Amino acid sequence: MKLIKAMRGTRDIYDVEALKFNFIEDTAKELLENYGFGRIITPTFESTDLFKRGIGEGTDIVDKEMYTFSDRGDRSITLRPEGTAAVVRSYLENKTYAKEDLTKYYYVNNMFRYERPQAGRYREFYQVGVEVLGNASPMADAEVISVGYRLMEKLGIEDLKVNINSVGGNETRAKYRKLLVDYLTPKKNELCSDCQNRYEANPLRVLDCKNEGCQNLTIDAPTLPDNLNDQEKDHYETVKKYLDIFGVKYVENPRLVRGLDYYSSTVFEVITEKLGSQGTVLGGGRYDNLIKQIGDKDVSAVGFGAGIDRLMMLLNEDQILNTPDVYISWLDEENIDYAFLVANTLRDNNVKVYIEYAPKSANAHRKKAFKLGAKKEIIIDSESKTNKTLGLKELSSRDIEIINFNEILEKIR
Ligand code: ATP
Ligand code: MG
Repeated sequence: MKLIKAMRGTRDIYDVEALKFNFIEDTAKELLENYGFGRIITPTFESTDLFKRGIGEGTDIVDKEMYTFSDRGDRSITLRPEGTAAVVRSYLENKTYAKEDLTKYYYVNNMFRYERPQAGRYREFYQVGVEVLGNASPMADAEVISVGYRLMEKLGIEDLKVNINSVGGNETRAKYRKLLVDYLTPKKNELCSDCQNRYEANPLRVLDCKNEGCQNLTIDAPTLPDNLNDQEKDHYETVKKYLDIFGVKYVENPRLVRGLDYYSSTVFEVITEKLGSQGTVLGGGRYDNLIKQIGDKDVSAVGFGAGIDRLMMLLNEDQILNTPDVYISWLDEENIDYAFLVANTLRDNNVKVYIEYAPKSANAHRKKAFKLGAKKEIIIDSESKTNKTLGLKELSSRDIEIINFNEILEKIR
């Protein structure tokens, strides 16, 4: 029979990869809860209109990457390609804005985009993200950036750069767009084929094209930060001031525009040079227009989404290996009750214990304990059961200490 394989662009996460995933998820949850974010879980699929309206036609996601199909009731549904639109839908649908003036959510979700799969780019991938809804203050931008930065620190991921920029409000972008088109028009034929298409629909995207030729062509282009109005400038300056206060190291990148249309004002990315063109690990910004676009309410918001799959590629494995504190070697069948009494007593007290379901020779146990990287070994034989004792040794040493059962907790700690 032909073997059935996972679909292109999807994968199983197990073993060390699952440990990495858990480590990222657990670290993120703890950190975000410390910062006052509460978890939100939204449905895996939504009405296609939500993403069309929210993310916007003309974006790569909506035009090329969505998993959209009709269900059996002929509704057009789409597997979520990103997290923000659904959070906003929930916020509007549940009238959360009427219940509280500041809402802080985080999510850890799988996302779906029909992309060309490669390392760090999948069709089903995972994001951890945050959204702060109901506040227009630059402090919110700075806190969101700073919590993303702390997350990278807590994960121990180094060599990352935080890039920030301001893309201004609608008026500024419309004015800037004209300036940019005027600048690009005489150079149009030199742009890459993608940018020749983008240039009219979405000329700002030319600024963050990865093609070197396009990058060189736009070196002297007018920049967004130079064209902000006074209020936008002030907002951007204040964001930077708070980033300094929060101890976040960042670089100003006037070409950063981000791929989603809903951003306004502050945008930011955390990037690495280690993952080639999959180098963006976290992206976000302020989206003061999105809530109006989806539900006709004037609510300011800011958030980010970070790619868990890419973070997994950057993690140092040593820090996440799930090694047991104690390996229990039990040598005879008749000691099963005592061996498991020892194991479960330790487990109940938060000690990580590895024990097998069948007795083995002392030598076979030792080999396994080393392989698992256990710190200590407990040895149980018939004598220990009768005397209510056990043998305890550091895995790396030869000396066995005989201790009483009621001493194990204090001896293990
Ligand atoms: P890229 O430019 O790499 O396509 P993006 O701008 O489309 O990224 P966002 O929509 O901002 O990405 O999503 C935030 C983060 O989610 C990205 O920075 C990345 O880490 C991750 N991400 C996005 N698409 C994928 C994917 N197909 N596979 C794995 N991770 C992804
Ligand atoms: Mg993309």
